[in-house]
Amino acid sequence: MTAPEHEGQKRHFAGKVAFVTGAASGIGRAAALAFAREGAGVAVADISLEGSQETARLITEEGGQALALKCDVTRSVDVKAALDKTVETFGRLDYAFNNAGIEQATAALADIPEEEWERVLSVNLRGVFLCMKYEIPLLLQYGGGVIVNTSSGAGVKAFPGGAAYSAAKHGVVGLTKVAALDYARSNIRVNAVCPGIVDTPMRLRVFGDTPEERARVLAQEPIGRMGTPEEIAAAVIWLCSEAAAFVTGHALVVDGGQTL
Ligand code: NAD
Repeated sequence: MTAPEHEGQKRHFAGKVAFVTGAASGIGRAAALAFAREGAGVAVADISLEGSQETARLITEEGGQALALKCDVTRSVDVKAALDKTVETFGRLDYAFNNAGIEQATAALADIPEEEWERVLSVNLRGVFLCMKYEIPLLLQYGGGVIVNTSSGAGVKAFPGGAAYSAAKHGVVGLTKVAALDYARSNIRVNAVCPGIVDTPMRLRVFGDTPEERARVLAQEPIGRMGTPEEIAAAVIWLCSEAAAFVTGHALVVDGGQTL
């Protein structure tokens, strides 16, 4: 049997535990796999239990340790229960990647239905707040750790037609900076990752996949292509690693130059 590529490489997160939301798909799934390849036990949390189970299966297939969880990040009972189960299963918590998110139907501000505003803010911003609120006491209990929150290029730059999404993602950067300051002396680092256009199911839902749409997307990308979920996962792993020990409160843009 051919050994997987990661075998034999140094595992930087051996004995550590990562909690990943939105881990049933796209960037979250790639990050969950990346944490596991670094040796961490991974709690795979998503509103879709089936999707979480599939990510967990992919991890265990590679010899990693995973726990599949159903968790709606807008519900504090779900978030608390998922984190309790994580600690009960793996015995600790070291890293959290708060990544669950939804897109907004493109519309000029006055045409955004109030319910759409509430829905997008609830998942993309309140969800990150709730996750951090209940992760931080656990991280403190186990001596500290690292949090990475998923913002977006839309969290540092304005794009037309996305007021709710952009407000939420700018909010994630703000929350990240304040949390970084609040816990800077407590051995907890908090950073955000701001992906550009990444080839995931969300990207397909937002931009479609006709040749014309693809050309329009690529025209926005100075580097001439979309990012891959694995490229965002690599940034998340770096932010969690000791190599980034002096980095906190940072919004790391990984976007092929789109926001320049
Ligand atoms: P995706 O749709 O492939 O995955 C998102 C996951 O989040 C799904 O598995 C979904 O079930 C889950 N989710 C949705 N609502 C949830 C909830 N309430 N509780 C728990 N889980 C929930 O999307 P993706 O492209 O992988 O996006 C991941 C993150 O990256 C999002 O926060 C998104 O806003 C951000 N982002 C994506 C892009 C891109 O181009 N794909 C660009 C910038 C930022």
